[in-house]
Amino acid sequence: MEKTIVCLAGDGIGPEIMESAKKVLTLTERLYEHRFHLQDEAFGGAAIDQCGQPFPAKTLEACLASDAVLLGAIGGPKWDNATERPEKGLLALRSALGLYANVRPVEVDEAVAYLSPLKEESAKDVHFVVVRELTGGIYFSQPKERTADQATDTLTYTRKEIERIVEYAFQLAQTRRKKVTSIDKANVLESSKLWREVAEEVSGRYPDVQLEHLLVDAAAMELIVHPGRFDVIVTENLFGDILSDEASVLAGSLGMLPSASHSETGLSLYEPIHGSAPDIAGQSKANPIAMLRSVAMMLEQSFGLREEAQAIENAISSVLRSGRRTGDLGGTETTVSFTDAVLEAMEEQA
Ligand code: ATP
Ligand code: MG
Repeated sequence: MEKTIVCLAGDGIGPEIMESAKKVLTLTERLYEHRFHLQDEAFGGAAIDQCGQPFPAKTLEACLASDAVLLGAIGGPKWDNATERPEKGLLALRSALGLYANVRPVEVDEAVAYLSPLKEESAKDVHFVVVRELTGGIYFSQPKERTADQATDTLTYTRKEIERIVEYAFQLAQTRRKKVTSIDKANVLESSKLWREVAEEVSGRYPDVQLEHLLVDAAAMELIVHPGRFDVIVTENLFGDILSDEASVLAGSLGMLPSASHSETGLSLYEPIHGSAPDIAGQSKANPIAMLRSVAMMLEQSFGLREEAQAIENAISSVLRSGRRTGDLGGTETTVSFTDAVLEAMEEQA
C-alpha cells in the first residue's frame, strides 16, 4: 500500500512525539511492505515563526492532497501575546478539512490501571469512545453579541448536522458492543429536543444497536461512577468538549490517549488529546503513547490496516507490562528510549 501522510509536528513536545511516530511508521513500512510518504509541513506557532501565520496556504494544499494528516501539538507561552495565534490555525484547519466528527477512544491499560483516579476494578471496565460534534453548536452559531453589560451566545443545530454525527456513532457502535448513549439537555434546550428526536429516527435504521438518552449532568456523574455502562457516547460540541476532557483523566495520564477527526470527504486528522506541554518540551520527557496510538488509529481507520494497528497497540502494552514508563507514569524512560522499546517489541512480534 502506498500513502501520503502530512506530518504537522507543531510546537512544544510536538516535534519530539512526531519523531516517535515517524520511526514507528518507518518500521511498519518495512515489516509489512508498505510505502508511506511522510511530508512535513509548517503549522501552529512554528509556522507563525517561519512565515507569520499559523496555517499557511502551502500546508492546506498539502493536507488536501494527502491520504491522512498527523498532528503533534500546537501553542505555548511564546505566542500568548502574538498577533497571530496558533489555536486559530487549528480552528481554520478543522474547518478547511470539514472535520465534523471528533472521536476519542478511552481505555485504561491494565498495566497502569493503578494510575487511574477510579478504583482499579472499575478502571478495568473502561472501554468507550466519545464522539463529539465538532463544527456546530454554541461555538459557531450566530448571533454572538457583546455590549458592556450583556453578552449573547447562540446554540443552533440543524437536523442534517445532528443526523450526520449520530449516524457516525451508530456505525461505530455496530463494530463494537452495539450501544449508543446520546447525551443532551433535552429537559431544557430546544436544540437538545431536536437532537433526541433525530437520534431516535437514526436509531430506527440500526435495529441491532441499542440507543439510550442521558442528560449531560447525569452523564458527568455516570462517567465516574459507572464508566463500564458506556460503549459509544455521542454528543454536541460544547458537552463533548467538557465530557471528553473529563473522560480523558480516567486513563491516568494525558499522555495515553489518541484522537481522530473525520470529514465527509474521507480525509481525517489524527492527534494526541494532550497539548504541547511546554513545561517539558525539548527534554525527551514526553510520553509518546498518545501519539503512537494516534498513528495506530490512522492505519486502521484511514487505511484499513488493522493488523498493523494492532501490532503497535500490542507493542505499547508489552513495553508497559515490562515496567518501562515515561515520567508522567512514574518511570524513568525518555521519549526516545520508550519509543525504541516499542520498536523492539514490534520487531520481536513480527
Ligand atoms: P492545551 O491548552 O494545548 O491543552 P495544556 O497546558 O492545557 O495545553 P497540556 O499541554 O496537555 O495541556 O499539558 C498539561 C500537563 O500534562 C502538563 O504538565 C504537561 O507536561 C503534561 N503532559 C501533556 N502531555 C504529555 C505527554 N505526552 N507526556 C507527558 N506529560 C504530558
Ligand atoms: Mg488544555
